[in-house]
Amino acid sequence: MRHPPGRGARHRRHPGGRARRTPRADDAIDCAGRVVLPGFVEPHLHLDKAHLDAVRPNPDGTLAGAISVTAALKAGFTAEDVRARASRVLEDAVLNGTTLVRAHPDVDPVVGLLGVEVLAELRERYAAAVDLQVVAFPQEGVLRTPGTEALLRAALGKGADVVGGCTYQEESVADCRAQIRLVLDLAEEYGVPADLHADFGDDTEDPRYALAGYVAEETARRGLGGRVTLGHMTSPAALPRAERLRLAEALAAAGVAVVSLPATDLHLGGRGDEERPVRRGSRGSGSCGRRAW
Ligand SMILES: [Zn+2]
Repeated sequence: MRHPPGRGARHRRHPGGRARRTPRADDAIDCAGRVVLPGFVEPHLHLDKAHLDAVRPNPDGTLAGAISVTAALKAGFTAEDVRARASRVLEDAVLNGTTLVRAHPDVDPVVGLLGVEVLAELRERYAAAVDLQVVAFPQEGVLRTPGTEALLRAALGKGADVVGGCTYQEESVADCRAQIRLVLDLAEEYGVPADLHADFGDDTEDPRYALAGYVAEETARRGLGGRVTLGHMTSPAALPRAERLRLAEALAAAGVAVVSLPATDLHLGGRGDEERPVRRGSRGSGSCGRRAW
């Protein structure tokens, strides 16, 4: 950083304080031809499962394929392994200008708190370069997988920043809705935001994969606007326009943030579509705006 001659930073003395450098709008910084921009935000990253494709690829490219491969591999996760793969991604992210990452490590009876503990350690190690938020993410469901609620509570007690949800693993829509209520209860009890996988279908045919409307309803009822995020949210792309806009208005009015994930969903979506245009379930999104996609 270099100030042109005679145009250096001004100094001002605060009452009872030390002299402080006060930036002025007419200060100039020579960046030698480079550009200064705010850091990128990566709001959805399964860091504990990064780079698994090199170990065992998804057999059919579908969401179900991804879930079955990771379910098998995570039984063998070790702290060293998760730390190495997650660090590699974090370093790549920082080197490419990302300064905030929200990560979703699995929390379930198979892997326990391993992912949360390793990522909490990396949150401290990389604190100077990136703000890492750790979501306690119940990938295997909560009601269907006994012991998971206690693990979520333990993760939040150990410093997870956000409580996650993953409804489509539950056996019925009633259980999916119960999971959403439970996750939002935990968000309120521990004073943390919630981040849900609750809408991840090509369409709304299986309502366990199409719960964006219910998330909006529960968020509004509890006054949790600005504290709830919905990731993926692919099923509304298959809705008629009028219904889609109604849903967008409900999400925006409730203050639910929507994170669209084209890198994942363009890859996983529409795998069964052979005789009609392939659905890709991904649209531009806004966060709590008047139009959610
Ligand atoms: Zn995800």
